[in-house]
Amino acid sequence: MGGDDRDRDDVVRFWRRLGLPGIIDVHTHFMPERVLSKVWAYFDSAGPLTGLEWPITYRRDEDERLALLRSFGVLRFTSMLYPHKAGMAAWLNGWAAGFAARVPDCLHTATFFPEEGVETYVREAVEAGARVFKSHLQVGAYDPNDPLLEPVWGLLAEAGIPVVTHCGSGPAPGAYTGPAPVGRLLSRHPRLKLVVAHMGMPEYGEFLALAAAYPGVRLDTTMAFTDFTEDFTPFPAAERGRLADLGDRILLGTDFPNIPYPYAHQLHALERLGLGDDWLRAVCHGNASSLFG
Ligand SMILES: [Zn+2]
Repeated sequence: MGGDDRDRDDVVRFWRRLGLPGIIDVHTHFMPERVLSKVWAYFDSAGPLTGLEWPITYRRDEDERLALLRSFGVLRFTSMLYPHKAGMAAWLNGWAAGFAARVPDCLHTATFFPEEGVETYVREAVEAGARVFKSHLQVGAYDPNDPLLEPVWGLLAEAGIPVVTHCGSGPAPGAYTGPAPVGRLLSRHPRLKLVVAHMGMPEYGEFLALAAAYPGVRLDTTMAFTDFTEDFTPFPAAERGRLADLGDRILLGTDFPNIPYPYAHQLHALERLGLGDDWLRAVCHGNASSLFG
């Protein structure tokens, strides 16, 4: 049996055992080819970032990556993209709208950057049907409290559109990562549906506390709890109870295809937390299903 078949069987066995129709993955990456190849080149030289080898398990053509996700039984997924500088976001949003139109099981994803015109292109993306946004505070190196973004957060909070935000300081910190900047943002936009990517690693406890304080806040599991991540930023055992308490606010995310292990490992990493089948059903399907309808 080939690697793909084994991966597929592992994933399908996971959700079938739970009696689910499949799973929903809120954190996957699809991007214009030349952007994705740059991302891959970055991971290939990941040494400066984390000092870790980061082999991309699913370095394939786009149609193969889509076929794989579907064979895994991933019912809905996203095309997380993000600019590292001004002048890119509107172009990325145009690409993502086209992608969502030709890939109906992908949730229409958009992004932004603090720049002139940001409110206009975000509003256009929302009007065009964007269902989820991505904000990357480490790669973008911007303050979520930048005055240029104030109307954007307001608009997204009002529209109830989730914003998956890379705001934790892992695997590398940035000037605006960590719980404080996002905490200030939430104090002004308490209803914002902010999805803390990667469980906020390594500041897991602080981001879980934000989720406890603000009912709109969720966390995605992307790469958390895996052997790879546990090696350098282990999830604190003392916070495990909070994972159970906030079980309706945790969403499966994986970072497919840019992961250094098979897709099923993320699922097994959740399973071995020992929080039970109801928790797994909510995290891998139910919570995202109710968030996105
Ligand atoms: Zn990601």
